[in-house]
Amino acid sequence: MIHEIIAVGPLQCNCSVIGDESTREAMVIDPGDDIEMVMQAVRKHRLTVKQIVITHAHIDHVGGATRLKQLTGAPILLNENDNALLKMLGVQASWLGMKPPEDVEIDRGIASGDLVKAGALEAQVIHTPGHTEGSVCLYFAPQEMLIAGDTLFAGSIGRTDLPGGSYDSIMRSLHEHVLALPDETLVIPGHGPATTIGDERLANPFLQK
Ligand SMILES: [Zn+2]
Repeated sequence: MIHEIIAVGPLQCNCSVIGDESTREAMVIDPGDDIEMVMQAVRKHRLTVKQIVITHAHIDHVGGATRLKQLTGAPILLNENDNALLKMLGVQASWLGMKPPEDVEIDRGIASGDLVKAGALEAQVIHTPGHTEGSVCLYFAPQEMLIAGDTLFAGSIGRTDLPGGSYDSIMRSLHEHVLALPDETLVIPGHGPATTIGDERLANPFLQK
């Protein structure tokens, strides 16, 4: 598996470019900004982007999706519970003092149980509401890897004080779905360093009984 993690935009969102080494088909997860850098990684590995997957509709994760779609022709996948947030990209931009990005339309809604494929690579969609109503994580079972969006960070969890956020929901998502994964699972959060499910189970202050 090819995997490049690129920290994009002023909030340094972890954008993942994940490709199948034999077919050269790829998915890009959370192209929030800096699409030129994302395309450099795509070209470096001679990949064809088949899917643009968004973990949730915050501007730092979704802001560059339409630009990337224009360049690659790939569809944009997002959970439909975040549609209201997606319609507020201009408002979100004003919170951050940024210029509003191009509007984003969902091409395919994704929900728990769905599979997202690129070549032989398959990610299981896990709906993990709490940070936003439509937040999802992507689990690559054979690779023992979770792309966690802003649901889980090394030593922390996603904030729940923004519109659509719910502390009760994020705790339920974490305990029922995320911590159900094996300890060895590598976790790539939406921001900051990688971790594992085992390390977070043991030491994350928000996840202690
Ligand atoms: Zn977020």
